[in-house]
Amino acid sequence: MGTETQLVKIEHLYKEFDENTKVLSDINLTINKNEVIAILGPSGTGKSTLLRCLNYLTVPTKGKITIGDIAVDAENHSKKDVIELRKHSSMVFQGYNLFKNKTALENVMEALTVVQKKSKADAEKIALELLDKVGMSERKDFYPSKLSGGQQQRVGIARALAVNPNVVLFDEPTSALDPELVGEVLNTIKSLAEEGTTMILVTHEIGFAREVATRILFMDGGKIAADGTPEEIIDHPENPRLQQFLNFVN
Ligand code: ADP
Ligand code: MG
Repeated sequence: MGTETQLVKIEHLYKEFDENTKVLSDINLTINKNEVIAILGPSGTGKSTLLRCLNYLTVPTKGKITIGDIAVDAENHSKKDVIELRKHSSMVFQGYNLFKNKTALENVMEALTVVQKKSKADAEKIALELLDKVGMSERKDFYPSKLSGGQQQRVGIARALAVNPNVVLFDEPTSALDPELVGEVLNTIKSLAEEGTTMILVTHEIGFAREVATRILFMDGGKIAADGTPEEIIDHPENPRLQQFLNFVN
């Protein structure tokens, strides 16, 4: 093991939507470069909210988020800080949210030409490499309506990678897919993990988390209730709520 480089730090993070909806409560978490973090937990426990807070799609109530060299404090930050923070991560959603009037290639190029202001030629070259990486180069000229859900999600992953994020955030990337299409998307995520892509993955696929994650978090009631290796969390769970959760999903 080399020296570990801290990439993400979450300090005393709180999110309350209103007085009666206190979703995240004092989350503290440090994630190193190349870690593959899986987040498990019952629905409604704040997993999506936590991911969304990381790029300020949801603005936290309190707390500090640091990714790479940018730190954003919920109670004292500028628009510019948020723009900088967002450059450091990208999110892959449950639904693929591709532009329907653009081909697979154009969908991936969009982030490069519009956000990063790359030339069309440069954007196309990078986009083709990324489509190749997710096994979609043969369908580069297909529109989303001509692609299966799994194929669309793989294009979505290529698009998320296009901006060269420090960390990729996946929010239940396979839960909208027909069961027979889940495997191809998980394989794509697995190959990214094997390349050392730092990622945080909210998933219900316990077996996949066990296999691919370097570390698993169990969230319960807006807190991180357990944090450990896949062996610790899945094979030898100590937390009673985690035991109950694993019994329920298995
Ligand atoms: P999970 O992803 O673990 O299922 P979420 O983070 O989506 O949980 O939601 C956690 C809680 O926050 C839920 O009770 C949900 O209803 C509430 N919540 C999420 N987004 C909002 C919002 N925009 N406004 C009000 N409440 C919300
Ligand atoms: Mg969710």
